[in-house]
Order: sequence, then structure tokens, then C-alpha cells
Amino acid sequence: MVASDVITKQCPSCCGEIDCRAKKCPHCLSYLGFRRQLYRLAVVLIWASCISFLVCTVIAATLMSREFRDRSVSVDHLADIEVLSSAIAFVPDNYQDCKARRLAIVGRARNKGTSRVQYVTFRVEVMNRNGKLVDVFSNQIYGPFAANEQFGFELSNTLHTLDLPESEYVSHKLVVQQAQNAE
Ligand SMILES: [Zn+2]
Repeated sequence: MVASDVITKQCPSCCGEIDCRAKKCPHCLSYLGFRRQLYRLAVVLIWASCISFLVCTVIAATLMSREFRDRSVSVDHLADIEVLSSAIAFVPDNYQDCKARRLAIVGRARNKGTSRVQYVTFRVEVMNRNGKLVDVFSNQIYGPFAANEQFGFELSNTLHTLDLPESEYVSHKLVVQQAQNAE
């Protein structure tokens, strides 16, 4: 013992010998007594808030990306669209000259799937009596078409009126290119 008769204790952090009245260890700068407990509690609270903030951020990001994906990425349901009937027709051209006629394919189709379909894109190929391709175009029709709904369609070549006599448009082929469930 030194002359000043200081009663010492051991620092719980560094095991150094310190004055028992010390509030902070002079060797390792750790807080002592209730300050030590407070300090520990503060550290625990800071960690807990950091971790919960991170967890919440991850959860929110996951939910938002799922929402975003649902809205922006369209699932293609083209296998769900069944063409029930289709035929070549000649319709007046409302855009240009009323006497001019445009080629159209009119028919009915069905959404045989279990999802709602927002729009369907068809590709149309039209051949003459020798099977030679005389026109090709794509056209979209807009729903929504509910699951199992039947709907009529008119697909027309909006780009131009007939180039050839009507008798040149003999047979046609219809392909469903897209059936999207988002706008
Ligand atoms: Zn210490």
C-alpha cells in the first residue's frame, strides 16, 4: 500500500489496478460501476437499432421489388389464347378515303387460361390462291379478357389500303404473338 492509503480495485475490463473511486479506468478508459452498465446498454441498443433498421430495409426492398416486378414484367399467356374462328374481310378505311377498303381478319377467340389478359398481339399472314404471301401485319386488341372469356376481334392492316384486287387475298394464317397481363 502507498502512503495515501488508496483502496484499489481491479478493472473488470483490463484487470488493471485502479482507485476504487474511479468512474473510468485510467488504463483502458472503460467506464466503471453503473456507468459501465449504462455504456453496455447503450451499445446493445445501438446495435439492436442498426440490426432492426437493416432487417426492415431488406424486408421493404423485397416487398417493393416484388410489387415492381408484378407491375412491370408481363407474363406472357399466349398459349392461353385460342382462336375459335377467323375469316378475311374487307372493311372501309375510316382513316383515309372512305371509299377505300382495308384488309381485315375478323373472328372470335377465347382466353382459356386462368389469368386475366390485358392485350393480345396477333400476326397475320395473307396469301393468294397460289399460296404466295401478299400481306403481313401485326395488330393488337385490348381487353381485359377475363379467364375463360370469349371475345370478338377485328385485326386490320392500318398502314395501308388494299394494294391488290380483293380476289388476291384468299387464305390467311393467324399467330398469337403476345398475350400480356399488364398494360
Ligand atoms: Zn481498465
